[in-house]
Amino acid sequence: MPREKYSDNNDGLYKEVDTYNLVENLESCLACGKCVGNCPVASLSPSYNPRQIISDVLSGNSEKWLKSEEIWRCFWCAGCATVCPNDIQFPLLMMQLRYRAVEKNYGLKHIMPFKRFALRAREDGLTFAPSEKGREKIKRYRSNLGTSPWPEISDRAKAEYKELFNLTGATEHLEKLSDEAEKPVSFSYTEGRITND
Ligand code: SF4
Ligand code: SF4
Repeated sequence: MPREKYSDNNDGLYKEVDTYNLVENLESCLACGKCVGNCPVASLSPSYNPRQIISDVLSGNSEKWLKSEEIWRCFWCAGCATVCPNDIQFPLLMMQLRYRAVEKNYGLKHIMPFKRFALRAREDGLTFAPSEKGREKIKRYRSNLGTSPWPEISDRAKAEYKELFNLTGATEHLEKLSDEAEKPVSFSYTEGRITND
């Protein structure tokens, strides 16, 4: 049986999602479903389906996915891309779907837990800040390896990092998020399936 193709299904509508032109060949999707078969999330969550997401994005029907919980389940493991016969980089499409979702205030609860890491990265050049006990342990391990006890970040590196945040708009974005309260993210795992709470 010939494979269904998604061509003639769009007028470049998907560029609304692929604004950075990272998945220029999305229209060459063959709808073969290999990505679905190799996706760990799809095997756990029947409502998550990369092939369906592509189909909807191509037909300009991405809004329902922007509002969805599903797009936040992708592990970004790239299993889908490694088996795609047309080398479609679905994870890069997913990344942009998430950007669009956040722009529309849909997925905020999913990124709020990372806000503090991003703020720390912008200020200190490091996302990770262990407790005093953990810090001592790391120092000991590093010393045993003959390296400096702690990965100090130079002032110049910190300034450059901060500048990157400014140039990419990340600073502005983080400041907007600072006013948002953190909300719990929860889902259930029942009988081998992920379900929404
Ligand atoms: S594996 Fe590639 S061509 Fe096949 S449905 Fe997935 S994205 Fe489309
Ligand atoms: S990157 Fe996302 S969509 Fe692709 S296989 Fe991994 S979990 Fe599935």
